[in-house]
Amino acid sequence: MLEVKNIKVSVESKPILHGVSVDLKENEVMVLFGPNGSGKSTLIKAVMGFSGYNITSGSISFNGKELNSLSIDERVKLGIGIMYQHPPKIRGIRLRQLAGFLSKDKDEIENLAEKLSLKDHLDREINLGFSGGEIKRAELFQLILQKPRLFLLDEPESGVDIENVSIMGKVLSTHLKEYWAQALIITHTGYILDHIDGNKSCVMVDGHISCSGKPREIFKFIQENGYDKCRECKCPVSS
Ligand code: ADP
Ligand code: MG
Repeated sequence: MLEVKNIKVSVESKPILHGVSVDLKENEVMVLFGPNGSGKSTLIKAVMGFSGYNITSGSISFNGKELNSLSIDERVKLGIGIMYQHPPKIRGIRLRQLAGFLSKDKDEIENLAEKLSLKDHLDREINLGFSGGEIKRAELFQLILQKPRLFLLDEPESGVDIENVSIMGKVLSTHLKEYWAQALIITHTGYILDHIDGNKSCVMVDGHISCSGKPREIFKFIQENGYDKCRECKCPVSS
């Protein structure tokens, strides 16, 4: 279970999050909406423990263990995994080699690569010459092989066409259900909602959570009214 309690986060001494609380139980999927610059990525980076994202008050805990002073490695070992928005190209290491570090089960690697249309990519150097969609699928491939208990996904659809969103959404949804894993997903387009049943969602505005409710209802409201109504907190679906 992820418990974010009233955290304030500053980056380079600039306060970005002004008291954010979120909780996520086993097997729950939370969708986070919000306009650009509202602090969504900052929240995910603070949970993952990226340097420079200073928690000045409040606490983050995962399965009862406080994370505030733990390194990224220690958080990964506790079962927290992130899908990078702009992963690097890694010359000299093939995707299959990296997959082999993450899982000893060769069938699992082959089957997952098949499902993510990455069979032909296993023997290529990681991300070298991959298209935008292929890079995202390869990221998801690596993340699923890590088997995190908590998936942190920051706009997994960005730069990905609808067909790829569909492939990724289906694979992720099946995995989350099968492994009883939880996820915090930031989405702008909402396309991922066609494939993943989020249990709950919230809207972040100006470093605060302004409202929460059911993902599809909140998304529909945002589509119809924009974020200004959230800013004024006149959202009828808020709970
Ligand atoms: P979102 O993901 O909602 O678009 P972010 O969390 O990326 O928003 O950013 C929130 C605010 O924090 C923005 O004003 C952004 O410029 C600032 N910010 C985030 N990371 C940094 C950083 N490393 N250095 C300086 N400012 C940052
Ligand atoms: Mg962001």
